[in-house]
Amino acid sequence: MSSSLYLKQIELGPMGNYVYFVGDNTTRQVAVVDPAWDVGRILSLAQEHDLTITSILITHSHFDHINGVEELLNHTSARVFIHKAEAEFMNAVWGGMVKVDGGDSTRVGNVDVTFLHTPGHTPGSQCFLVQGHLISGDTLFIGACGRCDLPGSSPEDMYVSLTHTLAKLDDRTLVFPGHNYAPKAYSTIADEKRSNPYLQFQSLQDFLHRGMRIVKMS
Ligand SMILES: [Zn+2]
Repeated sequence: MSSSLYLKQIELGPMGNYVYFVGDNTTRQVAVVDPAWDVGRILSLAQEHDLTITSILITHSHFDHINGVEELLNHTSARVFIHKAEAEFMNAVWGGMVKVDGGDSTRVGNVDVTFLHTPGHTPGSQCFLVQGHLISGDTLFIGACGRCDLPGSSPEDMYVSLTHTLAKLDDRTLVFPGHNYAPKAYSTIADEKRSNPYLQFQSLQDFLHRGMRIVKMS
């Protein structure tokens, strides 16, 4: 019997970051995705909703996604899950750090979270797939994708992550991005395939020549 999903989207900080609680509605155990900006608020929300934070999931290591990890670790005994390529890329060590690869999974309460390696924005960017919900970090935004002109970025990898990994997910998958950059807070893979220009390019060459001129998001 599969356990019921708990998912909460929280907008924090000056850059419109979305932090998430994702986990088990029955046991009230949750992971925090990309803890940043206001750990006091994250902890008080957890308390208010009777949640125990057991894990920290990192989509990627940019400052606006991880600046609360250290402080959150001071208040919980959570383990930190980061892609192995991202751990190498950012060259930092947290206590209780678990390096994962695409296809691995972990349990939060009785809910399984699967890691998808989606390089492009950074070498170890990853998305989390949980019971038909995709937490997509700075790989896939609503109507856009993450920047590919930063240190460690690769537009070629981004193209593969978008077209070979994310676009192949079930059309009904709900998409929860890493930033509030769109009029709506979440989307579906079907809607993104229909309207997101970065999922429309028919070839890598087309993506590189036309797509990469207009990416301006973090
Ligand atoms: Zn980023």
